[in-house]
Amino acid sequence: MKRIVAIGECMVELSPTAAQGQYGLGFAGDTLNAAWYLRRLMGDNGQVDYLTAVGTDTISDQMLGFLKDAGIGTTHIQRRPDRTVGLYLIQLDHGERSFAYWRDESAARAMAQDAEALRLALSGADIAYLSGITIAILPPDDRTVLAGILSDFRAGGGTVVFDPNLRPRLWKSDAEMTGAIMDFAHVSDIVLPSYEDEATWFGDADPRATARRYTDAGAGYVVVKNGPGDIFVTHDGREFISKVQPAAKVVDTTAAGDSFNAGFLAAHLAGHSAEEAVTSGAALSARVIGQYGALSELATE
Ligand code: ADP
Repeated sequence: MKRIVAIGECMVELSPTAAQGQYGLGFAGDTLNAAWYLRRLMGDNGQVDYLTAVGTDTISDQMLGFLKDAGIGTTHIQRRPDRTVGLYLIQLDHGERSFAYWRDESAARAMAQDAEALRLALSGADIAYLSGITIAILPPDDRTVLAGILSDFRAGGGTVVFDPNLRPRLWKSDAEMTGAIMDFAHVSDIVLPSYEDEATWFGDADPRATARRYTDAGAGYVVVKNGPGDIFVTHDGREFISKVQPAAKVVDTTAAGDSFNAGFLAAHLAGHSAEEAVTSGAALSARVIGQYGALSELATE
């Protein structure tokens, strides 16, 4: 039985419903989406814990209830009476989605203030899973604390899995973002970047250049996603390309990368080859983008 600890921020999501002017309330966030799919895929073979901080108010209770109902472990979620959870609103303008966020003071931003709590949560885990968004929301000093804890976790035999998920507007500057991303690449074993973002912010000429940058930083296993394009993989010094069948119907690409990561990791943890794990990730994300919303029940099919 494998234990995975996903570290990050779950937010309240308000999304338009069919009824004009009405919004539905849900919960989502990149690392949470991946944890949610992983939980479904792993069944009895895995325990998936979420590591974050929430408030002590009613909406925070509801968020914990949602996580528990999904089978995600909440034991290590810190409760902060002085803060509450972040929120985002999906706006629709002639079919185009855009997002408005209220997350600057969210409880999750304070999750790394208690280093001992983080160490305890990771103790005995097989995998620590985090993203560029996880580190973007932390104050710089707390980011350094988390990197140190991950480094120790790795030295103790744990595997660190990192999706750079570049979101420039969460950072003070592009240089701060790219610097911090590479700092965390140095403490990661598996890196799961998306090529388009990497090319934009790191200037990579092609997916191989992205993979090389992360392998040079010390990650032995890099899977470069590229929307409907081929996936470039470096695994233990071996490079290969995995073909993606472009989806016939793309309804909503939200969580394409997150669900890919979950499908990939579940197969990897089940002992499948790199080729099989990548194919498995691509198959899940192809189904997820055929549905509305970040969390799609298709994963159980
Ligand atoms: P992100 O959501 O992080 O930007 P990508 O756009 O790179 O992620 O997509 C992640 C994965 O989702 C891809 O590697 C691919 O397997 C799958 N995917 C994305 N778009 C399509 C598509 N149009 N057709 C089929 N698969 C897709």
